[in-house]
Amino acid sequence: MKIDSRLSERIRKVNPSPTLSITAKAKKLVQEGIDVVSFAAGEPDFDTPDVIKKAAKDAIDAGFTKYTPTTGIPELKKLIAAKFLKDNALTYDERQIIVSCGAKHSIFNALFVLVNPNDEVLIPSPYWVSYPEMAYLCGGIPKFVKTDPANSFKMTADDLKKNCSAKTKVLILNSPSNPAGCVYSREELAKIAEICVARKIRCISDEIYEKIIFDREKHVSIASLGKQICDLTVTVNGLSKSHSMTGWRIGYLGAPQDIAQAISNFQDHSTSNPTSISQKAAVAALAMPDAFSRMMSEEFEKRRDYIVKRIQGMPKFSCVVPRGAFYIFCDIRRTRADSLSFCGRLLDELSIAAIPGIAFGNDGFVRFSFATSMEHISKGMDRLEGWLKKL
Ligand code: PMP
Ligand code: GLU
Repeated sequence: MKIDSRLSERIRKVNPSPTLSITAKAKKLVQEGIDVVSFAAGEPDFDTPDVIKKAAKDAIDAGFTKYTPTTGIPELKKLIAAKFLKDNALTYDERQIIVSCGAKHSIFNALFVLVNPNDEVLIPSPYWVSYPEMAYLCGGIPKFVKTDPANSFKMTADDLKKNCSAKTKVLILNSPSNPAGCVYSREELAKIAEICVARKIRCISDEIYEKIIFDREKHVSIASLGKQICDLTVTVNGLSKSHSMTGWRIGYLGAPQDIAQAISNFQDHSTSNPTSISQKAAVAALAMPDAFSRMMSEEFEKRRDYIVKRIQGMPKFSCVVPRGAFYIFCDIRRTRADSLSFCGRLLDELSIAAIPGIAFGNDGFVRFSFATSMEHISKGMDRLEGWLKKL
């Protein structure tokens, strides 16, 4: 579609989200009765737990349907502060916590208050699709830090050093990561933190997949590694993945007081509070024991084991074993196809939906989500294997 040149320059740089559009296309084909196996989904395939739903229904019945404080209701912020302390060894008081409409919104808010025109935003690549677009929307310039599959797509301290410049303002970190499933260790984060502190680079740490982690890996929040890095970091999390609440739109962040205040001012004039009803649901979610997230994570780990085995057994395919999240970033370079045409063929010839790696900055790769049943995974892998053998 031709974009009207009278639209703002800012928006003309921005593309629609390929993850959202391909997922929607696959869902539509399924509704039309086509036997599509979708590996596109970026959301857990579990239902939101009943206690959470009940809290939302109770909120409606009690008339909890009006504006709330912009940055979230005090009982929710208290629970978020307790969660940060318990899970992440982070001490944020309630004035440092902002609840927003999803982690996506929290990240956008953080970039909006941190980035000046032409500031560089460092983004390890492959990256989640929305980071560069958000950087553009905030007037910044995304600068990609290429990572190596041999290092599980993790950015090293050296990679970071080489890509810093006088214009570098913010680094976006994501662990466990989408699309590569990499998990940074405490030691790796400590080295990155050291550079951020030395060069006064702000860090936005996107920890949305914290609870989906395998092989007894331990999630570490970079802000917990010392006061200096904590003072530079915005820690982002939310309930979409941990409690299968993608549609409820609740995310949150913890930040130094001045950044939190700036985000509060911004949110006052943009969205105001996240939905009152979802906030009550979030209270119920955070009051739940960890068993639900653990159950999901264990199930994802079984699927991870299965899909890795299948992919590693296929001709012309290889992959790095993901340690968290629910995606596998598959190397298709030996097929000599580019990722867009490869995914086009998967959909047209095999009725398989997957996301082309180019959307994450790495052509030559395809992202398969295993947030779908074992039965689907097995069916999709059978189709793929038969087809690849004939390629
Ligand atoms: N960060 C990453 C890496 C993601 O994959 C997602 C999923 N869409 C988000 C943030 C945003 O999640 P939400 O806005 O649903 O909380
Ligand atoms: N994070 C998910 C994904 O990467 C959801 C889609 C989106 O918000 O972009 O597929």
